[in-house]
Amino acid sequence: MKADEEYDLVVLGAGAGGMTAALVAALEGLQSLVVERSGQVGGTTARSSGTVWIPNNHHLHGLGIEGDDRAARAYLGALVGDKAEPALREAFIEAAPAMLRYLEERADLRFQPYPRQPDYHQELPGAVEGGRALEPLPFDGRILGPDFDKVAWPLPELMLFGRMMVTRAEAARLLRAATSWDGLALGARLIVRYLADRTRWRRGTRLVLGNALAARLFHNLRRRAVPVWLNAAARRLIVEQGRVRGLVVERGGAELTIGARGGVVMAGGGFPASPELCERYLPKPMAQYTAAYQWCRGETILLAQSAGAALGPPGEDNALWFPSSIGRRRDGTTAVYPHIVLDRAKPGLIAVNAAGRRFVNEAVSYHRFTRAMYRAHQTTPAIPAMLICDHRFLWNYGLGMVRPRTPWPGRFVKSGYLKAAATLEELARKIGVDGAGLADTVNRHNEFARTGVDADFGKGANAYDRWAGDAEHRPNPCLGPIEQPPFYAVALVPTPLGTSLGLLTNRHSQTLDASGRPIEGLYACGNDMHSAVGGEYPGAGAQLGLAMTFGYLVAMHAAKAAGARAA
Ligand SMILES: Cc1cc2nc3c(=O)[nH]c(=O)nc-3n(C[C@H](O)[C@H](O)[C@H](O)COP(=O)(O)OP(=O)(O)OC[C@H]3O[C@@H](n4cnc5c(N)ncnc54)[C@H](O)[C@@H]3O)c2cc1C
Repeated sequence: MKADEEYDLVVLGAGAGGMTAALVAALEGLQSLVVERSGQVGGTTARSSGTVWIPNNHHLHGLGIEGDDRAARAYLGALVGDKAEPALREAFIEAAPAMLRYLEERADLRFQPYPRQPDYHQELPGAVEGGRALEPLPFDGRILGPDFDKVAWPLPELMLFGRMMVTRAEAARLLRAATSWDGLALGARLIVRYLADRTRWRRGTRLVLGNALAARLFHNLRRRAVPVWLNAAARRLIVEQGRVRGLVVERGGAELTIGARGGVVMAGGGFPASPELCERYLPKPMAQYTAAYQWCRGETILLAQSAGAALGPPGEDNALWFPSSIGRRRDGTTAVYPHIVLDRAKPGLIAVNAAGRRFVNEAVSYHRFTRAMYRAHQTTPAIPAMLICDHRFLWNYGLGMVRPRTPWPGRFVKSGYLKAAATLEELARKIGVDGAGLADTVNRHNEFARTGVDADFGKGANAYDRWAGDAEHRPNPCLGPIEQPPFYAVALVPTPLGTSLGLLTNRHSQTLDASGRPIEGLYACGNDMHSAVGGEYPGAGAQLGLAMTFGYLVAMHAAKAAGARAA
């Protein structure tokens, strides 16, 4: 092979998985190159909350908590069972804390544990109420200079004024701005910074959540002079004697042959944005929208398959899910608003199917909630499902794109996003739900709100539900009456936040062929890799935790192999 350029590791995709692989490779002395299909770095990672789920991490040790690896093993064992190769979750449990420590010590990646963030399956052995989920510390986008524009934007719906980022904790403090000095002072500080930013930048430069993570990874790549090619498309892999030796990349109108001594890494973020692949692999009715990055279209997976890489076995639904409401932005584009934790668990809201009946504990994780929609839909239409609340709820907690304390929700009613009615009967008519069923369901639910016990679905009975509820609401932080007109409804549909069906790999993240043999020189991580946890969602940050850990393992394996070649 005659190469135009040669590197040790060529990574396709600049999300958390790919950038971690490229960064760790560089820190291990390898020459790495990142080839990114779109015009910006960050992918879905840049849109995410940036939470990483790392059992047994050193921040926990700092609090005197040891032995979390054993608990995590029990937890993942119970959750995943035989849905995925146990060696993969074992590799994750071993390597995840090492990856986190490595990046905090060797690069300036910075995380802090959420004080409380319960795992998503509190009913299982080994689940914890906090300590495994960490958030990235804020990052100052100005450090990147003109390259700040190369970082993909978060979802406008999850920012203030559509351009300014705040964390969940900050949002809670800002909500108290009318009654507390702390909230007022924070609001003033953030707005002054934002206004100053806007004199020079297209959006706020104080980055938090997934945007901080993506920008910090990018910053670290730049500091180590790792080239990141944007708007570059891998056309084909070069395979010689059963080993991937490089690839052909189209860049700036020219085709370049790139040698990859240590291998090529597929890190294209799965296929949540490919209508064709979603049609082939995701359940029906097929998701029409996604909040994931529009370039995550499975191209890298198809490329790997062309070199003999095998897909993992299809699972229950081959995706990770958000229930989302679909709205329209002021500029006319479509908003996909993921209902992650802000409304479903709060007291005074129910989700109903077309019969006006509840079908799930509304407070469960977004992944479980959407799966429940699909299951319920098999007997009674639950896609779309309807979230129902009253005026008091809307004012206190907001509903999807309608923020708490919105003085004029009429704008959302006018656009058709929010349905409003003076009576439940009228609301049911407007949303095409059985009126008698809805009235009956609300009466029954209001009785649960008074006793504090949801006899049907157990909403508010465990630590995860209560964490996302309203701690100040009694007797159950997740149950409140729906009684104060007007009544409101928003429709929810399933949207993949990522896909779980991907390239089969071993514990070093080498892709495997159909007979289970590693394909030398071809790796996968992030959502291009078949889910190491069988398509389950153990806790907040599991996706990024897995993506970064297997990205780290790719680099460590490639570095070891390079060492062996040099010896
Ligand atoms: C709103 C939202 C919030 C979320 N919050 C969290 C959270 O807090 N914690 C968590 O764990 N998960 C979260 N997730 C899920 C998580 O963001 C994704 O699972 C994760 O970012 C996937 O990482 P990745 O590296 O595989 O892909 P990505 O971050 O999507 O990066 C893939 C990159 O590859 C590029 N690419 C695609 N095709 C090619 C190609 N052919 N050649 C070169 N490049 C290519 C893409 O353009 C993209 O830049 C969230 C998702 C959403 C939508």
